[in-house]
Amino acid sequence: MYAVLCWEILQQQFSACLPGVRPVTIGRRDTCDIVINSPMVAAEQAQLFCRNDRYYIRQLSRNVPLWLQNEYELPYRGTVALRDGAQLTIGTVRTIGSVRTLGTVRLEYRSMQIKAVPRKIRCSHCENLLDVTHENCIWCGTSLAFGELLPLHAST
Ligand SMILES: [Zn+2]
Repeated sequence: MYAVLCWEILQQQFSACLPGVRPVTIGRRDTCDIVINSPMVAAEQAQLFCRNDRYYIRQLSRNVPLWLQNEYELPYRGTVALRDGAQLTIGTVRTIGSVRTLGTVRLEYRSMQIKAVPRKIRCSHCENLLDVTHENCIWCGTSLAFGELLPLHAST
């Protein structure tokens, strides 16, 4: 499971990889795992965690709202599963007339499901295909360090 969180502050792009195994906190305070340096973000805003190959976000702030797709506001300690491309908005969303103003920071969650298909490597000597877990070719004993690594979904 590979996932990235991207955000933008004053036209500057930021991104952070999510480690998968352990939960991470996001927020303004520099003790957070992912620091989002904006006054609109709570000191400790949210927690992201992975369960059964899906990422979830949990709202940790009582004061600074966290929105999913600009529509659903997570309650305090509320948790929601994230889909690839999910838009998160931190901060205050106000509706003035028909215009929604966002005093906010927007984040995007991107996940890449890596299927459990093992990558293959082609032996540079006998050209047999082997799992990348091998160090030496099981057919001819040649080191696979110089073998050709094949793309993830190569069929032969
Ligand atoms: Zn070989």
